[in-house]
Amino acid sequence: MIRANRVRMKKEFDAQSRIGRYGKTGLARIALTPEYNRVRKLVHGWMDAAGLKTRLDAVGNLIGRKEGRVKGLPAVMAGSHLDSQNPGGRFDGPAGVLAALEAVRRIGEMGAAHDHPLEVVAFVGEESACGIVTFGSSVMAGQLGAAGMKSAVHPPTGKSVYEAVRLAGGNPSRVKSCRLPRNSLKAFIELHIEQGPVLEAAGAPIGVINTVVGALRGDIHFEGQTAHSGGQPMDYRRDAAMAAAVFMVEMEGAARRAPESQRMTLTFGMMSARPGWYSIVPGGATISFDLRSKSDKASAAMLGRMKKALGRIQKKRGVRGRLQLLVKYTACPASRGIRRALEWAAGETGHASLTLSSGGIHDACRMAALCPIGMVFVPSVKGLSHTPEEYTRFPDIVAGAEVLTSAILRLAGRRVKA
Ligand SMILES: [Zn+2]
Repeated sequence: MIRANRVRMKKEFDAQSRIGRYGKTGLARIALTPEYNRVRKLVHGWMDAAGLKTRLDAVGNLIGRKEGRVKGLPAVMAGSHLDSQNPGGRFDGPAGVLAALEAVRRIGEMGAAHDHPLEVVAFVGEESACGIVTFGSSVMAGQLGAAGMKSAVHPPTGKSVYEAVRLAGGNPSRVKSCRLPRNSLKAFIELHIEQGPVLEAAGAPIGVINTVVGALRGDIHFEGQTAHSGGQPMDYRRDAAMAAAVFMVEMEGAARRAPESQRMTLTFGMMSARPGWYSIVPGGATISFDLRSKSDKASAAMLGRMKKALGRIQKKRGVRGRLQLLVKYTACPASRGIRRALEWAAGETGHASLTLSSGGIHDACRMAALCPIGMVFVPSVKGLSHTPEEYTRFPDIVAGAEVLTSAILRLAGRRVKA
């Protein structure tokens, strides 16, 4: 029977959550800062102590490796990230790194045989607070190079991400060396907190992910006419902020009406009106949007709908709306083989599981460029995340680590398909 060492896990979890602490329960531990380097060093030490062969790549990804019985086979890798939002919680990321470490360490302690090598990874800079979302895994997957790092700003230093890597002790000019060869991995699995309410409501400690949603993100600029708030009667106005408001309400309705199977979410997280004063009808407004769905087709259709709505609003209100798409991530399905291995592992370790999709973007999505991927979720109390209030019950993390251990061991067998 596979059982994690929960006392050890709790000790390590508490130790990591003291570094870069924010208030009583939060973390403000942005990648490529001194606090981040401290936590990475701590985990590096644990990997060494577990007898793993460790390496730190040129941008700061940390990897620990345990060889398998057969030489030359691709590795089964598991892990997540150690950085947080600014501020965020202490579970988002570290839970996955520590569960992967515990899994590979337990496999060693049990003396369980495995053909494929096993790797534990702590990706650097998964959160947007570091300047680039899924920074370390994008580099590892060969999807981000020096140019992308030079053009992005690292908020804590105000320098480019390229420069921030250098200041944190890395060697950004060697970014290409971080790229893993295509045939070096058999599978990648990430354990993560759910960041939503489904598992808690269902009373299941384990979620096996079928798809990670895709995302379209950008800005919409509205241009009307700036005017005097008292002088300009309502019927004469070309109020850009009101055009933006009507647009947001209309599109929120459309997103709510999307069928459940599309798992669509639409968020307008930032808004501003220009020039921005009590007594001025705003002639300009900008809103951000973040559109996510399991179905890339549904996202594209919704984007078309948004553009059409802008045309209608322009006719009705004399305000021009221009949509600027900035980020496009396609939806990312988990491999059947890894899903099966995780479901089997949940059964073997005696933890109830259910299938769900991920509304958050994760390092696993970038790793999908290299190998089949899978994800396992553990419950978030009240569904909260990206806040110091984020909480996951420790027994659920332990359950997740046990499922991960069992699944890794299964996938590391030569005959099991990922
Ligand atoms: Zn995360």
